[in-house]
Amino acid sequence: MTSQVHFIRATGSDPAEVLAAKAKRVYLATGLNERIAEGDFAALKIHFGEAGNTGYIKPQWLTGLIWEVRQRTKHAFLTDSNTLYVGNRSNSIDHLRLAWSHGFTPETTGLPVIIADGLIGRDKQEPKSAQARTASSKIASAILDADAYICLTHVTGHVQTGLGAAIKNTGMGCASRAGKLDQHSVTHPRVNAKQCRNCSVCMSFCPEAAIVQAEGHVVIDPARCIGCGECLVVCKFGAIKMKWDEDSLRLQEKMAEYAHRVATHFQGKAVYVNFLIQVTKDCDCMAKNQKGITEDIGILACLDPVAVDQATADLLVAGGGGQDPLRAGYDIDWSGQLAHGEKIGLGRRTYSLVEIA
Ligand code: SF4
Ligand code: SF4
Repeated sequence: MTSQVHFIRATGSDPAEVLAAKAKRVYLATGLNERIAEGDFAALKIHFGEAGNTGYIKPQWLTGLIWEVRQRTKHAFLTDSNTLYVGNRSNSIDHLRLAWSHGFTPETTGLPVIIADGLIGRDKQEPKSAQARTASSKIASAILDADAYICLTHVTGHVQTGLGAAIKNTGMGCASRAGKLDQHSVTHPRVNAKQCRNCSVCMSFCPEAAIVQAEGHVVIDPARCIGCGECLVVCKFGAIKMKWDEDSLRLQEKMAEYAHRVATHFQGKAVYVNFLIQVTKDCDCMAKNQKGITEDIGILACLDPVAVDQATADLLVAGGGGQDPLRAGYDIDWSGQLAHGEKIGLGRRTYSLVEIA
């Protein structure tokens, strides 16, 4: 058995209305829209982009797709959950202001924005099912109160998982703060004292005050560290290290298990739309403009999150002439999330690519 992944070529230099038409066509090709019933709450899960980030999916690219969803139900909404790290998306008020500042307003999209885990990230539900890494998932309430799920993902590399695509947007992106902590808690970075310049930048970013001053350098208190990885990204001197293989694999497997419980809730009323436009080394949590690591490729859509992410990775490698542009950024084997996703029944890695002209 294979899953059909629908694909349309597109670039960021296409006019916004052209991109909106392409996103709509590839979404409609999956057949998901016809499964949405009148009155359904339809959650359009997206990352609104950190302040200063430019890679996020632009609201104007979604107008066609949203119009189609709204023909099926008046109860559609854009949504994301609050972050673990300290920033502009760690509570719902700052998060909403940021979404508006990036154009996600009712005037532009026709949809309200609802931050799915409440004011400060505590609103959650906890579906249980025995899995290898987790016994339950702490998922943002508004996601699991919805009837249909439309996962809109700007594909990126990632400092801890290597690939940030549909599985990550669902597994990590739909988790409440406690759920994010649960997934990250296997990962504890360490500081290389010889490389540390004692600039203290990492200390100001750490959400748990886990980085403390030592003699001429900083150290991480493992009892406080939640493994969010913020310090890895902000240290300009490469002084903070992770045990990539072991830690990343466990994180990816937890993420796939979280994604599986979200997908199970929607029972076929879920679709995954991946945008391979300005694919960047780091995710949209980075508060800066980042160049693409490949040429723009297009938009993929599928009912199967594993298949759409496998197709995404294959297209990226093909676009890199056989070299993996994700691993050029962070040398992390990102395939663990796909392998584990397939093993637990989240989806299939075998797929057929159906290109839309
Ligand atoms: S950001 Fe890097 S160099 Fe600066 S204190 Fe932290 S570990 Fe040391
Ligand atoms: S030390 Fe680093 S990984 Fe640990 S909580 Fe602080 S920022 Fe996150």
